[in-house]
Amino acid sequence: MTIRAGIFDLDGTLYFNDSLGREIGRVAAQYIAMIKGIDQQAAWQLIKETRRRLTAENGSEASLSLACETLGGDLRELHRWFSEKITPEAHLQREEQVIAVLSGLAARFPLYIYTNNNISLTARIMAILGVSEFFTRVFTIEDDWEPKPNKATVEAIMAAIGRRPSECLFVGDRFDIDLRLPESMGAKVHLVTTLEDFLELEKFDCGGNNERNQ
Ligand SMILES: [Mg+2]
Repeated sequence: MTIRAGIFDLDGTLYFNDSLGREIGRVAAQYIAMIKGIDQQAAWQLIKETRRRLTAENGSEASLSLACETLGGDLRELHRWFSEKITPEAHLQREEQVIAVLSGLAARFPLYIYTNNNISLTARIMAILGVSEFFTRVFTIEDDWEPKPNKATVEAIMAAIGRRPSECLFVGDRFDIDLRLPESMGAKVHLVTTLEDFLELEKFDCGGNNERNQ
């Protein structure tokens, strides 16, 4: 199979420490605490229990976005909180090995970001990581406010980039959220939970795959 596009999740996929993810969870708990009139610890527990229940009901991992919506949260407002209160600069740094792999892949086929994060945090995170230049286009929650996994969103991205799922490599850190749906639509997928997993992407940067301009 010739890969003609790479579609990458952002958080947990292009960096591997949990610190920023924990901060996102902490701010989500502040937000739910505010709308429910409960303390932050209780809100954090409520989000955790809601994710667990939704995961059991759906048979696949529920996103933080879905849990917050289920608890009566508004995704737009939640993301305004994220943008205002989260400082990704305090949690992330450049990883030259990640940059090298992305540079090699981007020379073979166009790369895209597809994330449940918002535009402003996504741009800041990509700048800190030093990876902005490798991505042709960024798709965020703000495009349609439908969190992953969502088939209509994947179809809209395919239309926007002019590719079929079978021509794409999807890369993410959560199989149920990032990869299960694209795989069911015919895409190749690669699960990343560590830097070592990420470095394995070099195998897709191979000599025979030089048809990016066709
Ligand atoms: Mg992720």
